[in-house]
Amino acid sequence: MLQADGLKKSFGKIRATDGVSVEFGKTEGEMVFIVGPNGAGKSTLVNLLTGLLEPDEGTVTLNGEEITDMRADQRVHQGLVRSFQVVKVFEEMTVRENIRTALLIKRKKTGGLRPRKMLQGLFSLDDEHEEIERTIDDLLEQFALEDIEHTLAEKLPHGDRKLLDVAMSFALDPNYLLLDEPTSGVSAQETDYVIETIVDVSEQQNVTTVTIEHDMDIVKNYADRVIALHQGSVHGEGPPTMLETDQDLRRLLLGVEE
Ligand code: ADP
Ligand code: MG
Repeated sequence: MLQADGLKKSFGKIRATDGVSVEFGKTEGEMVFIVGPNGAGKSTLVNLLTGLLEPDEGTVTLNGEEITDMRADQRVHQGLVRSFQVVKVFEEMTVRENIRTALLIKRKKTGGLRPRKMLQGLFSLDDEHEEIERTIDDLLEQFALEDIEHTLAEKLPHGDRKLLDVAMSFALDPNYLLLDEPTSGVSAQETDYVIETIVDVSEQQNVTTVTIEHDMDIVKNYADRVIALHQGSVHGEGPPTMLETDQDLRRLLLGVEE
């Protein structure tokens, strides 16, 4: 379980996060969506959870261990991975090369498949190479990127770029995946396909997802639980039906008060 307890973060006089306590992964593979108007503190909360920002107060706990002071890259190795609102792929690399790069980053940091001393001689570099290429094949298949594996990232339509970005996040072997507006910049025709693919792969791999999303149809279709933020605080939390029944929330999301 990933927990935030009393998180606070200010930028000057702006209280972006103003005492947020939330839990993710109450059930394994849970899909939680974070909603709220612009400036509600959604991205700041995700940045605090993943270690891109340090809180002024409060704690972050992962599977019972406090990780408030842990660096973002160390959190990745604990299975806490984020995907960015603006896709961070390597433009001059092909789809396949991008995924390989993500896998190598993970392997290098963790010591990879390098055999422990007692096993030396049983594994070779060839085995490691083959294992990596097989993992790339699996990811390409899961994200339906096989047909364009040799296409340069810079040539991809937005939907496929997003899927590549998420495939690279999955190469890091997450238990928790945090996505900041995965459908932003993706064309209306591609939106459903992109989100469905992310949801399918997350379900297959039992990954708990925390997704910031402004498209309420997507939230209603896919959320196990919704957390609504407003002015840095949790406005409400509940099943997606809350988007219909909570009139205050509807007003907030429609931006009437903004
Ligand atoms: P959301 O993602 O819900 O739109 P953010 O978390 O990005 O909201 O921002 C919450 C508030 O904090 C906003 O008022 C925003 O302008 C402010 N803010 C966020 N990041 C910074 C920053 N790095 N420096 C100054 N103000 C920031
Ligand atoms: Mg944001």
